[in-house]
Amino acid sequence: MPHEPAKNHDVIVVGAGISGASTALDLARRGVDVLMVDRFCPAAMASGWTLAGVRQSGRHRAELPLARSAVEIWASMDEELEAETFYRRTGNLRCARNEAEAKIILDLVKEQEAAGLDIALLKGREVQKLAPAVSEKVIVASYCPSDGQADPVATTKAIAEAAKRAGAKTLFGERVLSLDRDASGAVIGLTTEKRRLAAGKVVLCAGVYGNELINPLDLNVPMEVQMVTMMNSTPTERIIEQVIGTANATGSGRQEPDGKFRCGGGHETWNGDIVVEDGMPRVRPSVKNLLWAMENFCDLVPAFRQARIERIWAGLIDQTPDALPVLDEPAGAPNLVIAFGFSGHGFCLGPVTGRILGALVSGEDPGYDLSPFRLSRFNSWSGGEAAPLSLHG
Ligand SMILES: Cc1cc2nc3c(=O)[nH]c(=O)nc-3n(C[C@H](O)[C@H](O)[C@H](O)COP(=O)(O)OP(=O)(O)OC[C@H]3O[C@@H](n4cnc5c(N)ncnc54)[C@H](O)[C@@H]3O)c2cc1C
Repeated sequence: MPHEPAKNHDVIVVGAGISGASTALDLARRGVDVLMVDRFCPAAMASGWTLAGVRQSGRHRAELPLARSAVEIWASMDEELEAETFYRRTGNLRCARNEAEAKIILDLVKEQEAAGLDIALLKGREVQKLAPAVSEKVIVASYCPSDGQADPVATTKAIAEAAKRAGAKTLFGERVLSLDRDASGAVIGLTTEKRRLAAGKVVLCAGVYGNELINPLDLNVPMEVQMVTMMNSTPTERIIEQVIGTANATGSGRQEPDGKFRCGGGHETWNGDIVVEDGMPRVRPSVKNLLWAMENFCDLVPAFRQARIERIWAGLIDQTPDALPVLDEPAGAPNLVIAFGFSGHGFCLGPVTGRILGALVSGEDPGYDLSPFRLSRFNSWSGGEAAPLSLHG
């Protein structure tokens, strides 16, 4: 492999999804010499495939403080980034169509009200009064008015651009093959397809590929990679404002500012197939999953049945056994920070993830209880079922 002379950076961030780009931005604003490397480009994987709901409702109690802070940050992201994220605080409706789903919603509203979230229980026709396009099959829903949605590609690119303006350097279209360590085991840089780069610290925000880079260091985040089918319709009349999803979070959808539906759902274990087309990674959804996702969203919003489909894609989810990410400086690998396993709900968290990782790298207190996100919580995990998907919104 051709090796260019080593270049030194304080920090190298691997991954230019919303987590990595936000981290590079935070570090650059701190005056840190940071390089962001991506195999493709910003928003090439989950941060481009996502539904892009920006929600606090339905979050695990450990994640709720992060999501609430994130929603505060989202409110001024356009000014902060000097770009359009198309963030709108439209609310989020989580819908129940039968008694079993209704119980999930009742429990959720009770727990999240107690945690201080502005969440309401809508019953009977209250749901359709708020959102007339929602099916009459929906008998109960939770409604969180401060939840919202954004444009994922525009947002992630805007964050990456802001990072560059703040001084971050970028290296796109180059795959990181391995992390480099010294004799003591400390991470000292990385090797890409084309070069070896030295760094004081490496932050790994590589999504579903995170384990590929830490497994050689005898580290592993237990994860099952799941594939979810997504689609866009052509622009249609605006009939829903909120992000709409099912109680058990198996499917969800929303209308983008131009009226296109963006929706999806279903999940199946990813078989590892991925193709690169026009320099971008693509995963092909299965017919079974596609039909399920279409039927499920028609069941929630019957008018969707008349829509014309413009684009179909599949997205990958880095699902951990407890559906919480790992945000940690793992023991045994000094100078390494890892952030993946977002389990289908890391888009909303992106701006906070960046600040947390920026603080960790800088040796500062991030200001959140990170114990639920330590890698060591899986030390006694011996395999078994992953937590159910909770990608909704
Ligand atoms: C269908 C779907 C719906 C979702 N819905 C929501 C939602 O409504 N709300 C929400 O909050 N979240 C949602 N999520 C989850 C959210 O999108 C992700 O958690 C989030 O985007 C993860 O961002 P990331 O930066 O951590 O990872 P990614 O965006 O996947 O970025 C990882 C980057 O690392 C790069 N990379 C990987 N390996 C290497 C390597 N070896 N060398 C160089 N670069 C590498 C990749 O190219 C990629 O760009 C959804 C996800 C999917 C797939």
